[in-house]
Amino acid sequence: MHSEMATAGVLDELDAAVFAVSDLDFGALPNHERLEILRRLESVARKQSSAMYELLNGLREQWIPAEFGCEHTHQVVADALRINRSEAKKRFATAEQLAIRSSFTGEPLAPELPAVAAGVRDGVLGDGHVQVIRSFLQHLPAAIDAGTQEQAEAQLAGFAATMRPDELRKIADRLAAYLNPDGEFSDEDRARKRGIWLGEQGPDLMSSIKGLIDPELRAHLEPILAKLAAPGMCNPQDETPTVDGEPNEDEAKRDTRSMGQRQHDAVKAMCRGLLASGELGQHRGLPVTAVVSTTVSELTDLAGPAATAGGSLVPIRDLIRMAAHAFHYLVVFDVEGRVVHLARSKRIASPDQRIVLHARDIGCSHPGCTVPGYLAEAHHIREWADGGPTDIDNLTFVCPAHHKLAGQGADQWHTTAGPRSHTRWHPPAHVDPRERPRINRFHHPSGILVGEASGDPP
Ligand SMILES: [Zn+2]
Repeated sequence: MHSEMATAGVLDELDAAVFAVSDLDFGALPNHERLEILRRLESVARKQSSAMYELLNGLREQWIPAEFGCEHTHQVVADALRINRSEAKKRFATAEQLAIRSSFTGEPLAPELPAVAAGVRDGVLGDGHVQVIRSFLQHLPAAIDAGTQEQAEAQLAGFAATMRPDELRKIADRLAAYLNPDGEFSDEDRARKRGIWLGEQGPDLMSSIKGLIDPELRAHLEPILAKLAAPGMCNPQDETPTVDGEPNEDEAKRDTRSMGQRQHDAVKAMCRGLLASGELGQHRGLPVTAVVSTTVSELTDLAGPAATAGGSLVPIRDLIRMAAHAFHYLVVFDVEGRVVHLARSKRIASPDQRIVLHARDIGCSHPGCTVPGYLAEAHHIREWADGGPTDIDNLTFVCPAHHKLAGQGADQWHTTAGPRSHTRWHPPAHVDPRERPRINRFHHPSGILVGEASGDPP
């Protein structure tokens, strides 16, 4: 039915109608009419998300990675709409549950969440409601039968029509307690929910950690915390913190840390001990350890944070404390950001070169990619097969997914060395007919702030 022309025509009309609305004069309206207009605008915005979900489903079903040079649909959508990848992922997951499915014989089947899908289409349910109902169903025990789940979904969608999401959340919690009164959960339920997530680093360089741990991990943690988080243990205020053996009475008495602070310092001591033990072996050719880079001036001025190969920042004073323990790599750059020149004739990038790559590239150099250096591979900017040397100036970090897309073929991305050691990625014609080279700015945000001239379009 929809020809390209018709679609464009409808979208133009939508645009025109929205402009017409913002041109309206609301100045003389009584407040109850303002409220009514707000209600209608909200409803129209909600109805639009139905089309958005349908488009997302279409993209997912007909995704050809080579077409956009990316395996991950949500990453391409995040870039196109300039929304966070986590948001794009959530929208795709929601869309999938609201999509009309098809049977093996190709017959259309109701969506996974039929009542929610209908509510969204009618503009009755907003994203807040949809996420409450999705989360309710995700947390139901697997033992609850499909019929009951369906009933609960329909019931909640019905309530959502007259409630705010926070009110709906309360009803959903009640319903969950009613369906699972003894709070019985199977191993499968627990396994499904387990997880530990590190949040983004804040402006103060602190990170939030959240998670749900299973009974076994808790059983492992308890004795470790009992030992290392006891008053007087691992206390950074002591000149030489006690990390093994027993703290003496004096150390315990002058320990003013809260329980939370003591547990934090215990986990830190545990991680440091594990890294220093060397028992983790190697990861991508380097002993498993912290790789951190900084510049001479930052180090002598004790100013500015140093960058870790995990994509985070460490204050210089912390860095110096870390350096007091063995087994860490520190790369120091001079004022011009010059990289030490290390040449190797072996195909495999040497550990030394890997450390410099950690410091220089920080993470995957493919445009927009967020994968940190610890998870990246060394790639020859000029292909090894083409005579490209294994030389630090010819190497760059790339994540495994983007490594697969790189090559000399007409349908592949190829790489050249760019200014200030940024690798230029040249897209194949089907991704960008003008084949304009791009660089990754994600790992080098300060370069944008100081107006670094890259000679490349953004
Ligand atoms: Zn990548």
